[in-house]
Order: sequence, then C-alpha cells, then structure tokens
Amino acid sequence: MTNRFVSLDTYDVRFPTSRALDGSDAMNPDPDYSAAYVVIRTDDGAGKAEQGEGHGFAFTIGRGNEVQTRAIEALAPYLVGRLVKEVLDDLGGLYRELVYDSQLRWLGPEKGVMHMAISAVVNALWDLKAKRAGLPLWRLLSSMPAEELVDLVDFRYLSDALTPQEALKLLRRGEDGREERIQTLLQRGYPAYATSPGWLGYDDAKLATLCREALDAGFTQIKLKVGADLEDDLRRMRIAREVCGPDVRIAVDANQRWDVGTAVDWVRALAPFDPWWVEEPTSPDDVVGHAEIARRIAPIPVATGEHVQNRVMFKQLLQLNALSFVQLDAARVAGVNENVAILLLAAKFGVPVCPHAGGVGLCELVQHLSMFDYVAVSRTMHDRVIEYVDHLHEHFTDPVRMDRGHYLAPLQPGFSSTMRAESRARYAFPDGPVWNTP
Ligand SMILES: [Mg+2]
Repeated sequence: MTNRFVSLDTYDVRFPTSRALDGSDAMNPDPDYSAAYVVIRTDDGAGKAEQGEGHGFAFTIGRGNEVQTRAIEALAPYLVGRLVKEVLDDLGGLYRELVYDSQLRWLGPEKGVMHMAISAVVNALWDLKAKRAGLPLWRLLSSMPAEELVDLVDFRYLSDALTPQEALKLLRRGEDGREERIQTLLQRGYPAYATSPGWLGYDDAKLATLCREALDAGFTQIKLKVGADLEDDLRRMRIAREVCGPDVRIAVDANQRWDVGTAVDWVRALAPFDPWWVEEPTSPDDVVGHAEIARRIAPIPVATGEHVQNRVMFKQLLQLNALSFVQLDAARVAGVNENVAILLLAAKFGVPVCPHAGGVGLCELVQHLSMFDYVAVSRTMHDRVIEYVDHLHEHFTDPVRMDRGHYLAPLQPGFSSTMRAESRARYAFPDGPVWNTP
C-alpha cells in the first residue's frame, strides 16, 4: 500500500440564505450559510472518486469564510506526500500532530479559526477512512474496539475529570448489545427536534404555520429563537404553546444575547410557557456565568455547546453543573476525535448530548456522532435529540433522510460530507453564478 496524498484543495462556498431571513436569530440577523470546504485527494481510486477523496468543511455564516478557507490550506503540508494508509491507521496521531503544531498552535490554542480548520481536515480524513472501509462513519466507529477508540482521544487537560482508564471502562460497558442497538437505529432512526419554525425574522403567521407543520411531520420538540425583545418573545411563545399544546417540548435559544442577570430575569418571564431548555443564554466562554444562570433558573435546564471551542471548556461546564444538555458541534472542535472525547465526558457526567446542527451540512455530519453515541457510549436515546433544520440538504450526495421526526440511519459509506460538485461551482464565492445574478 504505497498510495499517497496528492493534494488538499479548498473551496469558498456560500449560500445567500440572508435573502429570506432563514437562520436569523438575536445575534445573527442575516447569515449567509457557508462552507469552507476541503477535498483531500490521493493517488489511488482512479475512476472511483469515492475511495480516493475525503471531503470535509468548516461552517461559517458568510464574511470570513475566505479566512477560514486559508486556514485549512495552511494544513496541507501535514498531508501532501504522506502515505495514506499510515495516516488513516492512526488518526489519533494525526489529530495530535495538527493540534500541537508548535507555530500554528499560537493562533489558538485549540480554539477559533485554526481549530475549525483542523476540524475540517480531520473530518475529511474520517470521511475517507469510512469510504474505504465501505461503511457509514457511525458504523465504522461503532465497530472499533474500546482500546482503539480511547487512542483517538487526547486526555491532556482532561484527566482530572476523565482518565483513559475510565474512558475504557465506559466503552467496554458499551460493547454489550452494540449489534442490537445498531438494529434499533436501522429500524427507527434517531429522534430529532425542529428549529425551522422559530427563526426570529419570521412573522407570527409563519411561526404558527411552521409549528403546525412540524407537529404534522412527527416532531415532539421544537425550538424558538428569543432574546431580542421580551414582549415579542412572550407573544411568540404564547402562539407556539397554543399551537403545540402542553405536551410538545419547546426549547428557547438566546444565541448568547444576555448578561447573567438579564438571562435570569428573561427566562423567569418565559417560565409560564414551560421552556424545555434555555440555549446559549450568555457568552459561550463564561463558564461561571452559565453555572450561575443554571442555579438561578432551575429547574429550567441550560443547554450550550455550538460555540464551546474545545473539550476543556466542556469539562469545566460539566464540572460546575453549568449545563444539562451538551450541544456539541461536528465542525467547531477538532473533528471526530475531539467529539469522541466530549461524548465520553458527557457520559461520565451523565448528561445527555443533543448536538447542534443546521447551517449547511451540519445535520449530515452530526447524525453519525449521535448514532455512535447511542451504540457505543451512552447506550440510550432518552431525552436525546438531534437538531434538525430543513435547509440546503439537496446540495449533498448523501443527504439526511427524515421519517416521523427521526433521522434515519445513514447507509452510504463515508461521513455524508460530500457536497455535489454542481453546488460547489454554482455557489462558489465570489465568482459563482448565484453571486453574479441580480
Ligand atoms: Mg443554537
């Protein structure tokens, strides 16, 4: 096996979602969902691209996607020219090499643009590894022995909360019944919740219609964006509760809008409408603030994670009982490897993981992580849901498939991360046709 990596190519792909206020929330009123997209190519698989290419991306919301793209390019020297098998056989090693590059590390460390670039590359390599194994990623991970899974994780900074021995124990516990749980996923899928009804830029009539549609589609949880204006939020919460009735879970998401005191007052005002969780109430870096909010709004739970930049932050949030739902993101921390660490941390603390998704391609990625979590780590779907947003799936070659409010288990080999070549060309920024028609 002497095949080598021959190139790492990036693409700045942007979708003009701000034109319809899709994705609007209190902090991000006009996002253009974008992918800093990477294709890693090898010199084998001639004629069968599916085994010769790994695809990955970092998600951004428009301006700055060119910066993200350049950061991914900075990682090319780590792959080009190297033996494919050597790299894919030790993705734990490669992940640590990228994270501990002594010069690039200065740009974080382990946070922000460079860390998201590592995520794109690590995820692209997992996509390639799964394609070559002929398995969807969730099944590849679920087939790995506990020792190999532990090897994927970087325990530095974690061992006061989770040791490799404890991780091994958690994963060994998960080896029993794996096959049965795989069958359950293949039959029923994994529960989802719907965010699409609640974007802040939608009017009341559209909110009511979309709530009704979500219920008809089988969802038992929806989410509303809040945090711009309390009177508006009270009115929108009342409408959603009226349409949904008392049994449907309605989560609210403030997208980091509040200070600690404001968060407490605002959530208490919304409490009569029984919010299922309060998401991103304040700065994602404010661990102590989250703990304070959680204490003062109890029993309403706090959820956060889409902007939590690494496993060390999640560790602290868990240690301080600052969150009740871990909302990991497939492409913000350093890819599959760091997310395995976060799943193990959540299992150690007994906190459900309800991943962040939406954007472009995030649903496609994160379903694999939740399904792996169910098969091999947490072993339960109780109070666990994956976010679902019904935008932009048509641009992927293996789009998510939904059925009665559930993600159906992906069946195609890979990480479901491959964007159609036509879409990459059509939405290329700034030269693609979509950006050049008035
Ligand atoms: Mg959110």
